[in-house]
Amino acid sequence: MAQIRCIGVLTSGGDAPGMNAAIRAVTRAAIYNNLKVVGIKRGYYGLVYNEMEEFGSKSVSNIIQQGGTILKTARCKEFTTPEGRAKAYENMQQSGIDALVVIGGDGSLSGARIFAEEYDIPIVGLPGTIDNDLGGTDETIGYDTALNTIVEAVDKIRDTATSHERLFLVEVMGHMAGYLALNGAIASGAEAAIIPEMETEIDQLGDLINRGFRKSKNSAIVLVAENPATGGALGLAQRIKEEFPEYDARVTILGHLQRGGSPTAADRILASKMGAQAITALLEGQRNVMIGTKNGELVYVPFSKATKHSSTIDRGDMEIVKILSI
Ligand code: ATP
Repeated sequence: MAQIRCIGVLTSGGDAPGMNAAIRAVTRAAIYNNLKVVGIKRGYYGLVYNEMEEFGSKSVSNIIQQGGTILKTARCKEFTTPEGRAKAYENMQQSGIDALVVIGGDGSLSGARIFAEEYDIPIVGLPGTIDNDLGGTDETIGYDTALNTIVEAVDKIRDTATSHERLFLVEVMGHMAGYLALNGAIASGAEAAIIPEMETEIDQLGDLINRGFRKSKNSAIVLVAENPATGGALGLAQRIKEEFPEYDARVTILGHLQRGGSPTAADRILASKMGAQAITALLEGQRNVMIGTKNGELVYVPFSKATKHSSTIDRGDMEIVKILSI
């Protein structure tokens, strides 16, 4: 196996708080190990269109507390084609980059897997997404911050919900995974979470109404995971209007504010540990793996497993929301 002398680092897909802490950790751990570092701009776009710059230790000063990503992120169509990846490989060769650290979600890691296999390149991934929807890891970078942002927002919505005695449907992100909605509901004391994982099991809205939640309360907050199949919170509000017109339902879509803000301490720590481990992994000869966590320990997760969407939502947690909302 060829010796690694220079690594490229990029952030791809949706931005997530803590990506900067990860870039910092990757850069500094690489320099500590006498490797050259190249920062690649706008995800795979920067590889295909040669937008890169050499990074020193100072390039990543004062960013651990910043949301977003200093490398920028993008979705790059060209990289999904063999021609685009050939250009990316050529640019990598010319810049002397012999390994990559890719920080992103399942799409980004799927791209990394294909690229690594096609050109026999060592690539290590970091789970950078607020959705927490990657396989083989308990946590992803950005999830904890987004969860805290949701809780802060729902606390505010509760004030108006209580004053007006209304039912509020608060839509949160999640990319077809219910982690943000479910844990957001537990943390904010919401009356219910409506998540894609339960969609085929029960009529979650009907169940909530039939529970008669209004008997003991004058207002309710329901966290709804985004879901094109049901139309999310707006789709449910329409159903309430048609099927349960006695309820005065309002919709709040939290949207992109969930992605922003300074990362929490937990996300900074996770990103820093995972970033440093990515360099250790590459130097150990690991390739085609994502750094994950299992029960508090860092683990290597093959890309094939990381990108397989397998929700580990605990049905017992759904019960907790119900039990605690009586
Ligand atoms: P998020 O979970 O926040 O949406 P993501 O990493 O899943 O992030 P995507 O838009 O799915 O975001 O993917 C990011 C980029 O990864 C794409 O724009 C594309 O360049 C690359 N990519 C995704 N899937 C593939 C694939 N099958 N082959 C090659 N490249 C891919």
